[in-house]
Amino acid sequence: MTMILVRSRITCLLYALVMLVVSGAGDVFGDDYSRERARMIKVIEAHLRGTPLERHGEAFDQRVLDVMARTPRHLFVPEAERDEAYANRPLPIGYGQTISQPFIVAFMTHMLRPAPDHVVLEVGTGSGYQAAVLAPLVRQVCTIEIIPELGESARKRLEELNYGNVRTRIGDGYYGWEDCGPFDGIVVTAAADHLPPPLIEQLKPDGRMIMPVGRPFVMQHLVLATKGDDERLYTRSLMPVAFVPFRRQAE
Ligand code: SAH
Repeated sequence: MTMILVRSRITCLLYALVMLVVSGAGDVFGDDYSRERARMIKVIEAHLRGTPLERHGEAFDQRVLDVMARTPRHLFVPEAERDEAYANRPLPIGYGQTISQPFIVAFMTHMLRPAPDHVVLEVGTGSGYQAAVLAPLVRQVCTIEIIPELGESARKRLEELNYGNVRTRIGDGYYGWEDCGPFDGIVVTAAADHLPPPLIEQLKPDGRMIMPVGRPFVMQHLVLATKGDDERLYTRSLMPVAFVPFRRQAE
């Protein structure tokens, strides 16, 4: 009788131990970042309260935050940066480039006003994170990267993570991607001193383009350019930002 009791106690203990390991497995292997993601969303929301958007009484697109709350940003940064992946700041991704700050990704994505039938161009694939955030919100994302190694690893990453509606390409995004367009939205994630005319050309009437404009690492502004039905371009400066420089193929 006592033997049976002891045995069943041991079985219970073993069961409890197995359950503990199974339920905590995500944390044990360091691949459960859902808490960090939830915290990141809270920080983005707090930042949004101070943006021109909110000051103009415009509501932020909740779908953008929902997508960011389930996009595994830690898989888009180098392993050494993984624990910092959900901090609200840019992080190095190699070759002197950075993955943009989560708040900026959220803001730029919102400003594009993505819709399910949209085709969007991104110039500056980098890690592929911005493309991954756009992908569930639009029909097609076309993204160009000038540094072959970054473009290639982003292509592989996006493929492994099943982002089937993202097309990647290596080249100088100054010329856009004519075969993929025309575009409902264009997002440029590197700063130049002017809006590239080929990009304006490939923007549809009623299309929206968002790009940092200014001198490298000095004074840059996030500029929203909208193309009217009459093909005229209207620009609006949104906020000061600091992006890596827009490069040209010849460099
Ligand atoms: N959107 C990226 C941010 C990358 S930083 C992300 O989510 O991670 C900007 C990227 O723009 C860099 O990788 C840089 O190499 C790239 N870039 C700069 N000039 C470019 C150009 N002319 N054409 C295409 N990519 C360019």
